[in-house]
Amino acid sequence: MKKREKKSYVKCVRCGGCCRVPVVPVTHRDLERLVKFTGTAPNAIVRFCPFSEMEYDSDSGLWIKFRYGKHAMVLRKRSEKCIFQTPMRSCSAYEARPQTCRTFPYSVDTDDSENVEINLNEVFDCNAAPCEESDVDIDTLLSDSLNETCEDAEYHNLVKRWNKSENKGGTADFLKFIGF
Ligand code: SF4
Ligand code: SF4
Repeated sequence: MKKREKKSYVKCVRCGGCCRVPVVPVTHRDLERLVKFTGTAPNAIVRFCPFSEMEYDSDSGLWIKFRYGKHAMVLRKRSEKCIFQTPMRSCSAYEARPQTCRTFPYSVDTDDSENVEINLNEVFDCNAAPCEESDVDIDTLLSDSLNETCEDAEYHNLVKRWNKSENKGGTADFLKFIGF
């Protein structure tokens, strides 16, 4: 890793926006950790949201083909916020939270020369204040980002296999296909 370039960092004041506004996509590894940690059934943790509900490229590897159209596996919401967000706006599944929750609101890009660029994603009505790099654990962020990339690739391969198979079923069949 040669150089780290930052665009901007924020000091989160836990307004809860990140766990309320976005639709949160998950992988089989995220679901595995959440089921184990919470003891909740997989289908009570995730739902399958239609293409029209998420701003992801149509060629993203997360789109699962069903007979009734493309859907993505995402965290369920209750009262318009993530099912794991507590009334105090913390995460009740923090230790097992999805990889994307670990890196949000940043995205980490590495080029061919192994330069690392960390960018701030769109954050929804964010109340956070700008902060210095020293307020952010950059090594943890980079490690989480690497894990996220690996687990996304593994999941997208599974989805690709499902999408290519001829006897596709419904969401329960998909969950079984990915190990639940
Ligand atoms: S919107 Fe900003 S302040 Fe609110 S939880 Fe997200 S990062 Fe933190
Ligand atoms: S799993 Fe936790 S961190 Fe992720 S959106 Fe839900 S409450 Fe927020």
